Amino acid sequence: MSIGKKSEAVKVVVRCRPLNKKEEAMNQERIVEVDVRLGQVSVRNPKSSGSLLKTFTFDAVYDAGSKQNELYDYACKPLIDSVLLGFNGTIFAYGQTGTGKTYTMEGVPTDPEKKGVIPNSFQHIFTHISRSQNQQYLVRVSYIEIYQEEIRDLLCKDNNKKLELKENPELGVYVKDLSSVVTKNVKEIEHVMNLGNQSRSVGFTKMNERSSRSHAIFVITVECSEMGIDGEDHIRVGKLNMVDLAGSERQSKTGVQGQRFKEAMKINLSLSALGNVISALVDGKSTHVPYRDSKLTRLLQDSLGGNAKTVMVATVGPASCHYEETLTTLRYANRAK
Ligand code: ADP
Ligand code: MG
Repeated sequence: MSIGKKSEAVKVVVRCRPLNKKEEAMNQERIVEVDVRLGQVSVRNPKSSGSLLKTFTFDAVYDAGSKQNELYDYACKPLIDSVLLGFNGTIFAYGQTGTGKTYTMEGVPTDPEKKGVIPNSFQHIFTHISRSQNQQYLVRVSYIEIYQEEIRDLLCKDNNKKLELKENPELGVYVKDLSSVVTKNVKEIEHVMNLGNQSRSVGFTKMNERSSRSHAIFVITVECSEMGIDGEDHIRVGKLNMVDLAGSERQSKTGVQGQRFKEAMKINLSLSALGNVISALVDGKSTHVPYRDSKLTRLLQDSLGGNAKTVMVATVGPASCHYEETLTTLRYANRAK
């Protein structure tokens, strides 16, 4: 019984990307096998002779040939439908840098075949709205970056300003002074996403480094008002968070000191806090869900647990050189289900 309930609230899927050119050129072995039918991923330890396999089972798994819309339709669409009904939901991409988090969340927005979860959700939301008859909708967007436990507004001109997390009984946990932009159609919301993405890279010379070390949270709030049978307007609000997490690779290697070390500790902090929160929610028996342990989990508190749905997409690469990290990612994902 608890299994049915669990799988409804938290869904964990794994996606393995193809070998890339560099890995092919290096003749890297594939050590990850995906059994789509059984929902299983197996990894082989390249150092051990024989075929020592570790196998994990998830709600769904996606292999190198998987299409963006397969993942979207099964793993994400139901969550977005529940947001349209007034519930909150969060979709995460978790994994080592270079394994396809951004490809999964954003993809190539200009290529219909390669659109990721975020642009697919735009289409879905506005199609739903255009077909509705007796409801009025308001769609608002915010775009946040958390870097070293500091919050920045990617839709604000002054994106270097650090924003504060506040809490009050009426609003719950919220980001003070965060911009929110009303969008009326797919074109407008895509434009806002592009602005945010640009602002993420402007002013930072080492953009790749930064984006692999920060969490980007795209928030869509859908407000729906409808005349009830009592003749009064009823409003329901659903919030959708789509999160491209910082790279999960272990940062605190020996020899890393000072600023880099502090940064590494903070990245690990929110990722491990997130793992602990999801694991406590899935467990169902924990009396304490440690939301307060990081900015990320505090910010997402109202969209994790309770009536909210969560989807975790864990991304891995197939190459033998990443054996350790791949195994670590699968273990993290395994804990969340
Ligand atoms: P991350 O955001 O996790 O660091 P990226 O999404 O930037 O990783 O992906 C790294 C590279 O691999 C990109 O060039 C991307 O296009 C490619 N890639 C990732 N996942 C896939 C996939 N499932 N199919 C094809 N190419 C992929
Ligand atoms: Mg990325």
